[in-house]
Amino acid sequence: MTERLVVVGADAAGMSAASQARRMRGPDDLQIVAFERSTHTSYAACGIPYWVSGDVSGPEALVARSPEQHRSRGIDLRMSTEVVAVDVAAGTVTARDLATGAEETLAYDHLVLATGASPLRPPVPGIDAVGVYGVQTLDDGAALLAGLEALGEGPRRALIIGGGYIGIEMAEAMCSRGLEVTVITMGEEPMDTLDPDMGRLVHEAMAAMGIDVRTATAIEAIETDAAGRAVGARAGGELFSADLVVLGTGVRPNTALAAAAGLPLGQYGGLVTDRRMRVQGYANVWAGGDCVEVLDLVSSRRVAIALGTHANKHGQVIGTNVGGGYASFPGVVRTAISKVCDLEIARTGLREADAVAAGFEPVSVRVESSTRAGYYPGAQPLTVKMIAERRTGRLLGVQIVGREAAAKRIDAAAVALWNRMTVEEMTALDLGYAPPFSPVWDPVLIAARKAVEAVNRTR
Ligand SMILES: Cc1cc2nc3c(=O)[nH]c(=O)nc-3n(C[C@H](O)[C@H](O)[C@H](O)COP(=O)(O)OP(=O)(O)OC[C@H]3O[C@@H](n4cnc5c(N)ncnc54)[C@H](O)[C@@H]3O)c2cc1C
Repeated sequence: MTERLVVVGADAAGMSAASQARRMRGPDDLQIVAFERSTHTSYAACGIPYWVSGDVSGPEALVARSPEQHRSRGIDLRMSTEVVAVDVAAGTVTARDLATGAEETLAYDHLVLATGASPLRPPVPGIDAVGVYGVQTLDDGAALLAGLEALGEGPRRALIIGGGYIGIEMAEAMCSRGLEVTVITMGEEPMDTLDPDMGRLVHEAMAAMGIDVRTATAIEAIETDAAGRAVGARAGGELFSADLVVLGTGVRPNTALAAAAGLPLGQYGGLVTDRRMRVQGYANVWAGGDCVEVLDLVSSRRVAIALGTHANKHGQVIGTNVGGGYASFPGVVRTAISKVCDLEIARTGLREADAVAAGFEPVSVRVESSTRAGYYPGAQPLTVKMIAERRTGRLLGVQIVGREAAAKRIDAAAVALWNRMTVEEMTALDLGYAPPFSPVWDPVLIAARKAVEAVNRTR
């Protein structure tokens, strides 16, 4: 008998799941119906800042697979159709065609929830004014570009609310477009996924690029003109004028549908799944992407991390399992990488505060090194911070801030973390070396050596 897989949300996690299940099971064996409430599918939101900056073309270039391509692969994709209810007891979903309002109830054998995350909007007056832009979807990107074009040439100011990775990427995009940029963040420093001392380096570099960064500052209101258009914001008791306002204030798992269906949610509002991405307690309900919580392998706690790199893996795992194979997603070490103009920023594992909160007693070291051999042309400075557990020397986290090929060094640290290595073991890692790529002692190895000394002092 033909089974039916129903997918809710047709972007990274949902369509990876659908595509993988289709690779493993033919149409006579598995019917696949995917519902997407927007007009886009399988697109790279990660590319939006670089489309807005003009570095990449878009939006077509950001679409990995169009609805037609999915349909030609045997997936019944229903666009502009929102799933409004899930009945897990009956094994059905109810979907509403957003154009006509018509509703249909469909039975499933397997259900995949891949509903993503919802952007957080500060609850302040004026937040919905014209001239305030999100950057979550391709439509948001198009609206922002249209808003930019409408401003014309001449001096223009952008106010970015939020100093996380989306905030700083949008700051870069606005700089590239020739705008004066102010970033307002509630954090002690921008990029609060880093320890504040490393965030300080980002702050200083942004200031040197001409970006006005205001830290520990909460937005109080969006200021509007008589026509209701945003003309700036009030924050920390100060008025910031701006021609446009961009929001990068974080996201939370979009799980209202799952909650209404009685499915289990964790501390951060994400769905709770087992290693195979099956919603805890439900044999045929799967979930992946930004709408789930995952296990942090270092702290052993569940966390909500909205990253496309995880969403695609979740989809692959779900599709393999629904397809009759066996796959699991063990967890994350919270590796993330970003940049603002030519400054690269990377992190993996726990910050000092996370380590303490998880019950570790951390020691940390910081080293200044360079991206190439000091004598090789173009060598640029970089800073590596390494955090280890006192006495055992277990690696707990690494942060890197620097220029030109600094950030991808985090991958070596992520592998070490994944394998629960000590900083002592790391000192012997066989990392690549030639003068154009690194000093003879790679900066990560120098940090590991220094961390060993710091750990030894705690024994
Ligand atoms: C500006 C920006 C830059 C980013 N940069 C990076 C990066 O550099 N690296 C990285 O790893 N990640 C990055 N991300 C994050 C990445 O884009 C997300 O983690 C990824 O898209 C999550 O995929 P998902 O499938 O879980 O959710 P989404 O991509 O949000 O897809 C969920 C889909 O579900 C649909 N949906 C929701 N509810 C329903 C419903 N009831 N019925 C029907 N459809 C529904 C939504 O319309 C949406 O299309 C970035 C995100 C943004 C916004």
